[in-house]
Amino acid sequence: MSKLEHVLGISGGKDSAALAIYLKDKYPSFNFTYYFTDTGKELDETYQLIDNLESYLGIEVNRLTDEKIESTNEDPFDFHFKSFRGYLPSPQARWCTALMKLKPFEKFVGDKPTVSYVGIRGDEQREGYISRASNIQSIFPFRKNIWSQDVLKQIFNPENQEQLLTYYSQYFRGVKLDKIETVFSKPISFNRNYRLEADRIIKEKLDALLEFGVIEFNKSIFQYLKTTEYPLSIEDDYPLLENEDNLVRADIFKILEDSGVGIPAYYNKVKYEVDGQVGEYARSRSGCYFCFFQQKIEWIWLYEQHPEKFKEAMKYENEKELFTWIPNESLKELIHPDRVREIKLNHLKRSNKHKSTDSKLLLDKLIDAEDGACTACFI
Ligand code: SF4
Repeated sequence: MSKLEHVLGISGGKDSAALAIYLKDKYPSFNFTYYFTDTGKELDETYQLIDNLESYLGIEVNRLTDEKIESTNEDPFDFHFKSFRGYLPSPQARWCTALMKLKPFEKFVGDKPTVSYVGIRGDEQREGYISRASNIQSIFPFRKNIWSQDVLKQIFNPENQEQLLTYYSQYFRGVKLDKIETVFSKPISFNRNYRLEADRIIKEKLDALLEFGVIEFNKSIFQYLKTTEYPLSIEDDYPLLENEDNLVRADIFKILEDSGVGIPAYYNKVKYEVDGQVGEYARSRSGCYFCFFQQKIEWIWLYEQHPEKFKEAMKYENEKELFTWIPNESLKELIHPDRVREIKLNHLKRSNKHKSTDSKLLLDKLIDAEDGACTACFI
């Protein structure tokens, strides 16, 4: 019986929904708690997905609410938007994520030692949200490396090298152990000025150690964590140490389809026509319908497929004050027929180019466009 809380945030996107299904099926003894932080600005398909998921899981997804906001009868986004006096959120000023996703989550968890499961896939490069609260630890079950970057930094800190090698010596001896020692010994600087270089070396070391064995890697880290204050340190054992899975985009769609939960309808590609040519567009992720992370072609999709939502998004802009969702372009300008044509032609050109390279990864990046975006909203 686990001494920890195990929580999973459902964003309304495909990956977190698939993670909930995957974990329930693979680790039925765990008592997972699910939560959803509603901005009030999601597409209906998101709410539909959560309903479907609840039927499959047989348990309610906690809708995190704020009594102060509820008493105003406003959507959380509108409530905060007012207090920011019309200042729209942006990648540089992401007050929306901080106030509507992270803060309610940390309040919900409180001070209980908690593992938070994050659905970043094995074919993604982005890092997940890591809580600053010391009682919350993030785990990434879809990746071969289930650990967060902050744990890796400790593992590869030269000061901890000897300790890690002692743990490793329970599983490997002789030449193999010597090779593992070589991996740990490669110099690494944790000076802030060399952050990118440090991340590159950490990734190199990580790949090398995973090659020697995922389970041995996990078990060594688990032993190390027991000497720390990380939530997992209070556990006697942790079943995910034996998990060697690496799930990619196609696996996620399969989990959703096989379970009957289904894929959110906004992922379905819709045909469009421009200058006699036919292209396909869709929305690439969950989150607010006006999210500033979306690509221009997704704005056009919103305009043509959900015109009422597009109109709502327009209402938040204040061109005089230069408060627009897209830098230097208002939504009114974006839907000028010449501009729509231009965006579609550009999109078509990029899609055809990626099709011809036959690179699954590139195509995934184009369709998903998740890299660099907010992991609290789009998983
Ligand atoms: S989906 Fe986009 S707009 Fe909505 S909270 Fe997340 S980052 Fe902000």
